[in-house]
Amino acid sequence: MPSTDDRDTRTAMIRGIWLVCPACGQGRMFAGYLKVRTECDACGQELHHARVDDGPAYFTLSLVVAVVFPLFAVVYSAFDPEPLWVALGMMAFATALALVLLPRVKGLFIGLQWAKRLHGF
Ligand SMILES: [Zn+2]
Repeated sequence: MPSTDDRDTRTAMIRGIWLVCPACGQGRMFAGYLKVRTECDACGQELHHARVDDGPAYFTLSLVVAVVFPLFAVVYSAFDPEPLWVALGMMAFATALALVLLPRVKGLFIGLQWAKRLHGF
């Protein structure tokens, strides 16, 4: 069984957040918004082993809720806004935040799997 000591977990996860290959940090991890490349175009590391399922979606949802809910208190205490505009604004902000975070969280998960040699990595 190969050792996991030669792969730095922290570096791999940070590279995943930046959407680059966990092995070399140069090639792109995704072919589209969330589609993982078969292999890194810089170093050839196979990336198709990634199996993250719904983990990134749940984690992203938790992060978005942790940011948006306190914002309601800030907005209502600082201003006296119309509830409809607050609801529309928060929905737009939450959607944009989720769209920005989701690929980064997925990259983080893939970096972790690569560093721990999970699923054939
Ligand atoms: Zn690479």
